[in-house]
Amino acid sequence: MKISLSPDEVAFRDELRKFYRTEIPADIRERFKYGNELSRDEIVRTHKILNEHGLAVPNWPVEWGGKDWTPMQRHLWQDEMQLASVPEPLTFNAQMVGPVIAHFGSDELKQRFLPATAALDIWWCQGFSEPDAGSDLASLRTTAVRDGDSYIVNGQKIWTTLAQYADWIFCLVRTDPNAPKKQAGISFLLFDVKSPGVTIRPIKLIDGGYEVNEVFFENVRVPADQLVGQENMGWTYAKFLLGNERTGITGVGRTKVKIGIAKEYAAQTKSGTGTLLEDPLFAARVAELENELLALELTQLRVVSNSSDGKPNPASSVLKLRGSELQQATTELLLDIAGQDALPVGADEIASPGWAQRSGPGYLNYRKTTIYGGSSEVQRTIIASTILGL
Ligand SMILES: Cc1cc2nc3c(=O)[nH]c(=O)nc-3n(C[C@H](O)[C@H](O)[C@H](O)COP(=O)(O)OP(=O)(O)OC[C@H]3O[C@@H](n4cnc5c(N)ncnc54)[C@H](O)[C@@H]3O)c2cc1C
Repeated sequence: MKISLSPDEVAFRDELRKFYRTEIPADIRERFKYGNELSRDEIVRTHKILNEHGLAVPNWPVEWGGKDWTPMQRHLWQDEMQLASVPEPLTFNAQMVGPVIAHFGSDELKQRFLPATAALDIWWCQGFSEPDAGSDLASLRTTAVRDGDSYIVNGQKIWTTLAQYADWIFCLVRTDPNAPKKQAGISFLLFDVKSPGVTIRPIKLIDGGYEVNEVFFENVRVPADQLVGQENMGWTYAKFLLGNERTGITGVGRTKVKIGIAKEYAAQTKSGTGTLLEDPLFAARVAELENELLALELTQLRVVSNSSDGKPNPASSVLKLRGSELQQATTELLLDIAGQDALPVGADEIASPGWAQRSGPGYLNYRKTTIYGGSSEVQRTIIASTILGL
């Protein structure tokens, strides 16, 4: 196993490091670094800069804007982006629907959607989960019934992230209710969220923020040529998509940045006769977190250096499981540093730093990381069956 960088890889990394820090606006990176919510425009602006330089969709086939990079180059592309606090290319476009259309879509669908998806001229959202179909996704009940050249879609999706910004939705729908296995009757359909019969309703999260929605479909007419691949093969495409989604969630670079911020704040926080950062118990907690993160990073590098066939690796479940836990541990660290200042007060007369006021909502918001993209329990089940053979 060789996980040190070659001179070429070092040069590649340094070039990206410079690019991210000079080409992506510093104000966007700064706001993103300190946990501020970005606007739709800021996300689109960053994505477009990356795309114009060939850095939004390197994981796609070369003919559609991808790069013929090694797994290590792809890893460096993402890690350096996170370390520079660059908001990553919109995951629904770059990691999810784009690769599915590129691998399984017709030439017509590729030409119609891939350039606009890479450029974020279309903002996609993910319509998979339903009120009774999350971990058990194959139980989904939204139906699509063929009617001439169209499908008529009825049902409901839930937890649809940023649907309020979206132009189009990629949706898992049931096209054969009588299939012998429930996985066999599912299809992968694309449609405009402005279609008549689509209603989007916000869900307010525990941190007070608005990032997820319920999406209802009432007799939505969808042209049949917006089906990806073959009818009733959607489960295969969904599994392919989820493998990509999980690998992207690990977030080692992002967690490193957060630990750096926590140390910065701890150095400004008084404790006894010194600072919190000098407190031996606190220092030990930070060291343990850093060690755990290093172990995860080495595991990620090992997975990367062993996966050259481009297929999602079952180890993506290990990375998702541990990566999401460490992201949560870091938000907990920030919350503890903030102490009594950890909640927003919204009053000028109370002296409480902005970062501290954001730490409480940030901690609450990150409870999501062990749920979305498949919960921790689901990842453990996948690890048990596909890696450990239990
Ligand atoms: C912030 C956020 C954003 C999301 N964004 C999207 C999105 O954009 N699009 C989308 O389609 N979905 C999205 N999701 C949905 C997400 O994929 C589901 O929440 C997730 O798959 C869990 O499903 P569920 O919520 O129905 O919980 P359930 O499946 O009901 O699970 C409830 C609990 O039971 C446990 N459990 C369930 N089954 C088992 C089992 N077999 N063995 C052991 N334990 C089990 C789970 O681990 C969990 O702890 C999002 C979720 C969140 C929180």
